[in-house]
Amino acid sequence: MKDPLSKIKPVVRSLSAYTLDPIETPIKINQNENPFDLPEPIKREVETRVRERAWSRYPDFVPASLLERLASFSGWRPDGILAGNGSNELIQALMMVTVGPGTRVVIVEPTFTLYRLQASVLGGDVRSVFLDANLAFDPAAVERAAIDEGADVVVICSPNNPTGSFYDLDDLDRLLERFDGIVVLDEAYHEFAGRPATSLLERHRNLVILRTFSKAMAMGGLRVGYMLAAPEIAAEVTKAKLPYNLNIFSMAAAEVAIERYDTLLRPLVELLVSERERLLAEIRAIDDLDAFPSAANFFVVRCSRLTPAELFSRLVDRGILVRNVSRYPMLGDFLRISVGTPPENDALLDALRDTLRGEKKA
Ligand code: PMP
Repeated sequence: MKDPLSKIKPVVRSLSAYTLDPIETPIKINQNENPFDLPEPIKREVETRVRERAWSRYPDFVPASLLERLASFSGWRPDGILAGNGSNELIQALMMVTVGPGTRVVIVEPTFTLYRLQASVLGGDVRSVFLDANLAFDPAAVERAAIDEGADVVVICSPNNPTGSFYDLDDLDRLLERFDGIVVLDEAYHEFAGRPATSLLERHRNLVILRTFSKAMAMGGLRVGYMLAAPEIAAEVTKAKLPYNLNIFSMAAAEVAIERYDTLLRPLVELLVSERERLLAEIRAIDDLDAFPSAANFFVVRCSRLTPAELFSRLVDRGILVRNVSRYPMLGDFLRISVGTPPENDALLDALRDTLRGEKKA
């Protein structure tokens, strides 16, 4: 009997797809998005620029004007920058040019699930190293896994999704110095941490930084990401990237968002950071709840009275969607909460207080 599935790589058949439950609630703080929409003046300027351009024509083969803006925005050279259809696309392209059967890839768990998925599809030998008991990075453990165990590629997400942990830049500098392989640093949330690793690019040709417009830049719906690396590494990754991967609308939006970042977006990022600190303090003051420090626009909480599934559904009943991360390694007791607008955060705090007040201790 015909069985086309037998032609799918066994490693792929054994993996679970990246998914998200389609639950709809008035307050959506489950995907680390910017709760504020892209400001109107940016949207209007993008519309004007896109209208003026022929839609029948392909985008520029090399998006030079976007790369130049990304260069001044990030402080890195334009020939070391690639733009992608979301940073997910660049993670994939980078994995395609570095990972084959048996390539040793170290990831620091719990983290964004796509790294393991992509590396595994390509046949990589994925090894985990773990955060410490406080969900902080353990640089000595990362160095051991990378250097002593002969890794080819190490992926570090900092601030880490889903824990918000930050990898100290001096520790990163030392890892880059001592490790012969490539260190992929996913800085999807760097705007909320304010301590970018770009200054390390000059000295370390083995550092590749990935970033996105989906979070602080409020453009999750438009799919733009970028990579910063040594120009010779960027030239190799280009080979695995599809031509014209960025459409003219998203490209124009990224350009305008950079041009208006300081006046229109940075204040929103600053507000989200102060809201994060307010939420952390107020949640810690609620009986039986603990919230962990974070350098991102989200954080993890642990409840000693309800299971994550119970607390998740109590919040859904009150119109609030958070992320149940209890299937991630080490996070069996945790939920992840993204920082919302101030009224959304107030509603979250009310819901948490009410839920836990109404619960009897077991
Ligand atoms: N990296 C991390 C750490 C993320 O959390 C996400 C999105 N959840 C991405 C990359 C993907 O970003 P993009 O929307 O740019 O593909």
